[in-house]
Amino acid sequence: MKVLVVGGGGREHALCLALSRDPAVSSLLCAPGNAGIADLAAVLPVAVDNPSAIADLAVDAVADLVVIGPEVPLVAGAADAVRAAGIACFGPSAAAARIEGSKAFAKEVMAAAGVPTAASRVCTTREEVAIALDEFGPPYVVKDDGLAAGKGVVVTTDRAVARTHAASCQRVVVEEFLDGPELSLFAITDGRTALPLAPAQDFKRVGDGDTGPNTGGMGAYSPLPWAPKELVDEVVADVVTPTVAEMQRRGLPFAGLLYAGLALTANGVRVVEFNARFGDPETQVVLARLRTPFAGLLWSASTGALADQPSLDWDEGAAVTVVMAAAGYPQNPRKGDPISGVDAANRLAGVQVFHAGTARDAAGRLVTAGGRVVSVTGVGQDVPQARDRAYAAVGLIDFPGAHYRHDIAAAAVTQPGGVG
Ligand code: AMP
Repeated sequence: MKVLVVGGGGREHALCLALSRDPAVSSLLCAPGNAGIADLAAVLPVAVDNPSAIADLAVDAVADLVVIGPEVPLVAGAADAVRAAGIACFGPSAAAARIEGSKAFAKEVMAAAGVPTAASRVCTTREEVAIALDEFGPPYVVKDDGLAAGKGVVVTTDRAVARTHAASCQRVVVEEFLDGPELSLFAITDGRTALPLAPAQDFKRVGDGDTGPNTGGMGAYSPLPWAPKELVDEVVADVVTPTVAEMQRRGLPFAGLLYAGLALTANGVRVVEFNARFGDPETQVVLARLRTPFAGLLWSASTGALADQPSLDWDEGAAVTVVMAAAGYPQNPRKGDPISGVDAANRLAGVQVFHAGTARDAAGRLVTAGGRVVSVTGVGQDVPQARDRAYAAVGLIDFPGAHYRHDIAAAAVTQPGGVG
């Protein structure tokens, strides 16, 4: 099988590594890729927001399967364009990817499917925003309706901040604050059947102790020692299955990766958001533990054959990833800083450094090329060992202005057991 992966972040590096380990994959390409992916796959330039350019590339490469990583090409219709060219594609149609591309649409689907989520109001005027803020009270949750690279949500007790954010967006969803630990559950689906992957937790704020602005994600771990054993089954029954069925009922079957961002509240599980693709950096820890051949799994989902897929096989242990970010991230990341220590980190036992915003300069040196630079992943027999390995590797990597969180998975190390 010749596989083309679209995207160039830590998630795509993890997707490429998992695909490269499947003996069914004879050839692996990635567009645009990054400096780390270039060690695993042939990397090709592409404009990820241009569906016809992606489809042309897949045709030229004679790809058997295209795997689309980021949300931007999905929402723009890249999966539709690839399928129209007669090539199997892992990723939902533009119409189905609206479940991520529009928060208001996601809320409408959840209401129709009876999926538990925060009560909400869609607002387009200042007056509507004011009424909704009064209705739900502080802490205020105000979400840009459209895609915003993980930065469209403001959660604040300051009403002025909430109003200012709403005023900067065309259409917003104002909703009830959900109190409780958050987790992510990925489900692979062919539009009818859905298979859950292991749950993970990610860390969205830039600073230790969940301080500072939201980011694309600063770290993650899996499994979750604190989560109830029946959690995955419950989320599949109450969230994933009804959502997949509702999308099919609407004539918008969702085939690809349905990502449920969840809060475990005192009243039960609630959906915080849906995404239409693998999460970054959760993918780095989830795939680190998956033993099932990955290309075969994505092929089944892309060809409507997931019902025949044997149950998934997982490593017993745990994985923790720590994102090292560039100076100025998330507001204004600096590019071009030389990176040292990645090879030394990769030589440590149980460590894999996934590249995100990296490139080679004219002299062939590894340099920063994006906000999140590397996603340093440790695997081990449990969360404490995986965490120690990840942070030992972080200690070997350096670039000017590098910053990272020190508390990824810290709260999970003291707890026994696990799910997933
Ligand atoms: P989203 O882009 O919808 O995932 O939101 C980003 C982050 O904002 C989430 O991971 C939560 O930490 C927070 N958030 C979103 N919606 C809510 C909510 N209703 N209550 C509390 N926190 C929320």
